[in-house]
Amino acid sequence: MTDQIGLFGEQPVAKLSPETWEQIPTRATVAIPPGAYDSLEQMAQHCSQCQRCDLASDRTNVVVSRGNPNASIMIVGEGPGEQEDEQGLPFVGKSGQLLDQILASVRLDTQNDVYICNVVKCRPPGNRNPTAGEIAACVPFLKEQIRLVDPKIILLTGNTALRGLLGIKQGVTKMRGNWMEWEGRHCMAIFHPAYLLRNPSREKGKPKWLMWQDIQAIRKKLNETTA
Ligand code: SF4
Repeated sequence: MTDQIGLFGEQPVAKLSPETWEQIPTRATVAIPPGAYDSLEQMAQHCSQCQRCDLASDRTNVVVSRGNPNASIMIVGEGPGEQEDEQGLPFVGKSGQLLDQILASVRLDTQNDVYICNVVKCRPPGNRNPTAGEIAACVPFLKEQIRLVDPKIILLTGNTALRGLLGIKQGVTKMRGNWMEWEGRHCMAIFHPAYLLRNPSREKGKPKWLMWQDIQAIRKKLNETTA
């Protein structure tokens, strides 16, 4: 771990001593540079013992991912809810079922075609939004996931994901439907499935109708990028 090369271009990464690398999961002051991990399994091992922010104290499980680690599409949510915390998997429960249905509507399935994760890996108490400090402590793990999975398309579900990765303060309602680029990857903000569950109308112009437009555009982009 002492000779890392930056994978996002020319920037060399800080050299980590073996002891500093060991401190990553326990000290938010120790940076997680691009290239810190050789594999997702190695990163998940650090996540499982992570104490970098206060969310560690109330969690049942650290929720790292589900889906295919070689997928072309990565879906990034905000953070685990109650069921995710209990099961140790992201997007389970009603939101997860709806997400699976949305993907299935354009012949994508969660086992093979997508990799799903969150901006923060531990559950915020009472399902509150994660704080800026919690996001800052955890987002380097997300960036390592992106580097290692190497998706062509990143879907950001909800405002926290949009802000956490891209730093965009405008909400999903304004940003959805537009392709953006980040580190050479196609990104789109999409409505969080929990929001769609609260807004079930399929009427033209409503969130569910808009989601249908977006998922078709995502399918089209995937076909283009993998042709
Ligand atoms: S939310 Fe992230 S940074 Fe905070 S304790 Fe969990 S894994 Fe560590």
